[in-house]
Amino acid sequence: MFLLFDLDRTLWDFDGNAERTYRAMFAQFELEKLCHADFETFHDRYRVINDALWDAYRNGTVTKEMVAIRRFSLTLEAFGCDASSPSIIRLSKKLSDYYVVEGVRQTGLMPGALQLLQWLESQHDRFSLAVITNGFSEAQLPKMKTSGIDRFFDFFFLSEDLGVMKPDRRFFDLALSRMNATPDQCLVVGDDYNVDILGAMRAGIPQVWYNYNNTVLPKEKTPPTYVISHLSELPALL
Ligand SMILES: [Mg+2]
Repeated sequence: MFLLFDLDRTLWDFDGNAERTYRAMFAQFELEKLCHADFETFHDRYRVINDALWDAYRNGTVTKEMVAIRRFSLTLEAFGCDASSPSIIRLSKKLSDYYVVEGVRQTGLMPGALQLLQWLESQHDRFSLAVITNGFSEAQLPKMKTSGIDRFFDFFFLSEDLGVMKPDRRFFDLALSRMNATPDQCLVVGDDYNVDILGAMRAGIPQVWYNYNNTVLPKEKTPPTYVISHLSELPALL
């Protein structure tokens, strides 16, 4: 059986790791003085802007380079800075570089992720593991290495390498053809209904929605094959 895991917020604690990085960045670049706001206020605003930019990136309306800089310049703008001024653009570039370097050094995993991977490793004759991620290539592999989880995986499928992003079914079709697997031999595990689960559905692959924050699925959405709220529930489904 092939298990295809999303990385961010499924195995790697994206939010916890990002918050630690931003907190350090906020202090180091003295953003409290510049923005006249505390870290929580700054970070809340940043998350909204970053999420919107990621949606735009998935839809192809902004480039990766634009996401990397604009998530900071637009946040600074929200706190009264002029996003078009050279000094703010320069600062945004520095913040972006800082995040790229420091962000991937964080090692926090989702609750139960390491135990799950260790259990799967003990059953290695039953399972092949793959990572399926839309994240930036230069960040995803270092993140997995630093947090020590790269060794559990036989396949790495990065959207930038495949040239197509989840939830496009071609992402999944390509991954399966490279693993020489059929949809019924696979299970996709991911936290994002609209990205991981919808994409897997389109490709005819059974799905496990890791709904760690107990989001209520709107009635009009097709229910996933399985739903779990903690990774420790996964072995019972296999
Ligand atoms: Mg995710």
